[in-house]
Amino acid sequence: MLEINNLHAGLDDGTEIIRGLSLCVPAGEVHAIMGPNGSGKSTTAHVLAGKPGYQLTAGEIKLNGQDISGLEPEERAAAGLFLAFQYPVEIPGVSSTTFLKAAVNAVRNQRGEEQLDGLSFVKLLRAKAEELGISQDMLKRAINVGFSGGEKKRFETLQMSVLEPSFCILDETDSGLDVDALRTVADGVNKLRSPDRGFLVITHYQRLLDYIVPDKVHVLRDGIIERSGGAELALDVEKQGYGLYQEA
Ligand code: ADP
Ligand code: MG
Repeated sequence: MLEINNLHAGLDDGTEIIRGLSLCVPAGEVHAIMGPNGSGKSTTAHVLAGKPGYQLTAGEIKLNGQDISGLEPEERAAAGLFLAFQYPVEIPGVSSTTFLKAAVNAVRNQRGEEQLDGLSFVKLLRAKAEELGISQDMLKRAINVGFSGGEKKRFETLQMSVLEPSFCILDETDSGLDVDALRTVADGVNKLRSPDRGFLVITHYQRLLDYIVPDKVHVLRDGIIERSGGAELALDVEKQGYGLYQEA
């Protein structure tokens, strides 16, 4: 479960962007954050990730009861948080398998767990890839180099699957994603949905939520949640535009 209480946050220079955001995503649920451009969606994701350059000035962030707001990004990952954009975009010369093994072992190391050797890891990875319908061929390729939008999303899903986080945050900033890539994101989320895993799916566009039906939708404006509702709220926003809520 992810709990955010009265979060105030912004840039290192003191600019406040998030102005009292509260949100609770119980285990097993998928919540979506929507909102117009500049409303603070990505900043929320960055602050949750502990990204350098962003400051939390008040409030708390709890993951499964643990206050993670003072932790380094890798400590948050070890605590069970996964952020889709936390990973490098392209790493020429490093195979997907090598990268994923390093990521998994880094998390295991933080948790004080034993490292997985090459063979055990490859077995695990093959099994996960097969579950997700990902070709073995992709595992040999350098990370993201020459991957299509859909393949990048498939790879992200594979990262999520091998890291087994208890909470995943996806910031779908890329408005250029085609329908196939959106479907891949949605398939990944839907396959990895489980009673003990929560998701926060951040998106400007309602169409992603045609494929991922969220338990709750929150509309963000000026760094604060101005409206929450069920999946139907996303359709409302799509129909009426964000302007409707500006007046309210
Ligand atoms: P969204 O993802 O909802 O479009 P953002 O969180 O990216 O919104 O941005 C919210 C506001 O904060 C915007 O006005 C944006 O210009 C500003 N902002 C966010 N990050 C930075 C940054 N690193 N430097 C300067 N301004 C920023
Ligand atoms: Mg954004």
